[in-house]
Amino acid sequence: EQESLKAYSSLSAVTKDGFSVEIAANIGTPQETAGLLDKGAEGVGLYRTEFLFMSAADMPSEDMQFQAYRGAAEAMQGRPVIIRTLDIGGDKELPYLALPEEMNPFLGYRAIRLCLDRRELFLAQLRAIIRASAYGQVKIMFPMISGMEEWRAAKALYEEARQQLIAEGVKIGESIEVGIMIEIPSAALLADRLAKEVDFFSIGTNDLVQYTVAVDRMNEKVAYLYDYFHPSVLRLIKLVIDASNKHGKWTGMCGSMAGDPLAAPLLVGLGLHEWSMSTSAIQRIKQTITGLERSSCEQLAERLLELDTPAEIRAGLTAFLQQN
Ligand code: PEP
Ligand code: MG
Repeated sequence: EQESLKAYSSLSAVTKDGFSVEIAANIGTPQETAGLLDKGAEGVGLYRTEFLFMSAADMPSEDMQFQAYRGAAEAMQGRPVIIRTLDIGGDKELPYLALPEEMNPFLGYRAIRLCLDRRELFLAQLRAIIRASAYGQVKIMFPMISGMEEWRAAKALYEEARQQLIAEGVKIGESIEVGIMIEIPSAALLADRLAKEVDFFSIGTNDLVQYTVAVDRMNEKVAYLYDYFHPSVLRLIKLVIDASNKHGKWTGMCGSMAGDPLAAPLLVGLGLHEWSMSTSAIQRIKQTITGLERSSCEQLAERLLELDTPAEIRAGLTAFLQQN
C-alpha cells in the first residue's frame, strides 16, 4: 500500500479524461522544501512566512527575509513558490510587536490589515520577496483580503516596492504573479470584481469556514458545526472558481479541504486548478484524482450543490468514491 502510493509522487494529477491539475505543498520554513519534489509536489502553494517572524527574537530584516525566500525559490528549481505575506494577529503573536488586546482577535487587527497599517514592515517584506523572484518562480499572495480597497492598497505597495528595487538597480524576476487568498466571505462574494484585477485566487478553507459559519476554528465546543462541506461554503467555492475562469485567471486552494480525498471529486467537478496541502497528503490525492473522470465529477458537483446539509454531501461523496 505504502509502496504503491509512493509511485504517485512522480506522476502528474490528471483525470482519466485529461483534466490536469497542479499539486503543491504548504510549507512554513524554507527547510521544508527539502525533498518536496521527490514527494510529488509540483510547487509550493502556500509558504506561511509568519513562522520566520515568530521564531525570531526581533523583526527579521529585509536581508534575512530575502535569504529565506530565496532559499525556497531555489530549492523548487523554477517551479512556482507562492509566498504569503505576513499573517500575524488572530491566534499568532509576535513577542517583539506589541499588539493591542482585542475582544475578538479573529475579527480584528491581523494579517493584511496590520501590514497596510505598518507600511515599513510590509514594504520590507515585499522587497525581500521581489528580490527572491530573481532566483525562481515566485508569486505573492495577500492573506485576509476582505474587499477591493485592501487588494488595491496592497497591490499599490507591491508596485512601490518593485519600483524602488528597479530604481536601485537590484536584480528582480521578470514577471511575478500577485494574487489573494479568499478566506473571508465578503471577498468570495466579490470574486467577479476581484478577478478582473488579481492574477489568481487561493481559497483558504480553514478561515473561510470559520467566517462563513461563524465558528471559531479552535473551539472544540462548536467544532461539530465547522465543516467545509457546508452547502454555503461550497457555493462560495463555486463562485470563486467560476469568476476566475470567466476572467482568464486561475484558482487554487490551500486550506485543508484540498488535502482531503473525500473532497477531491467535488473539487475536480468544480474545476479547481491548483491544490496545495501538507506534504503527507500529496500521494493519496494524486492517486484519487487520477482515478476520477472530470465529466462525472461535474455532474456529481451539480447534484451535491443541491443538497441541504454537510452530512448529505459527505454521504454523496462517499458513495461516489465507492463506485468509482
Ligand atoms: C486558511 O485559512 O485556509 C489558510 C490556508 O491559512 P491559515 O491556515 O494559515 O490561516
Ligand atoms: Mg487563513
